[in-house]
Amino acid sequence: MLSKTGVAPKELVKSVFPLDLSSFKAVIECYQEIPCNPCEFYCPFDAIEIGQNINNLPLLIESKCVGCGICVGVCPGLAIMLVKEENESLLFTIPYELALPDNDVCKIVNRTGEVIGDGVITKVVKTELRTLVTVQCDKQYLYDFGGILYE
Ligand code: SF4
Ligand code: SF4
Repeated sequence: MLSKTGVAPKELVKSVFPLDLSSFKAVIECYQEIPCNPCEFYCPFDAIEIGQNINNLPLLIESKCVGCGICVGVCPGLAIMLVKEENESLLFTIPYELALPDNDVCKIVNRTGEVIGDGVITKVVKTELRTLVTVQCDKQYLYDFGGILYE
């Protein structure tokens, strides 16, 4: 399915999610073997392993990830986000190319770009390369959240 549509099936998505959602952790959705490694290079906590072969898929060492978001900002493929469970909702931190206000509502889209629900932008942080946006949404979107639509 991934090679035909470019959309990762849910089982594959689940396989890259951290087990412990009590604090922010990286979700690395990098499914193609490509020569790329800024995520590994810039992680200050050695929480991403690619190794000698730069074509290897990145592997998150969950116990070392502190959810700092540096990898989210440096990944050229926009393939990394952070996730955390908070009370009855989820927080996702995603890379975003445009400026956004915080404390505003947005739409949640799935990995095919379909609107699936509502979210609230809770935090906007500008990094050297791009903006990191944190969005709060309902827990039901754990494996369906693919991004936001803001108008
Ligand atoms: S969020 Fe921070 S600690 Fe976790 S993998 Fe990314 S750069 Fe490393
Ligand atoms: S920086 Fe992004 S695209 Fe490159 S290997 Fe890491 S996750 Fe994949």
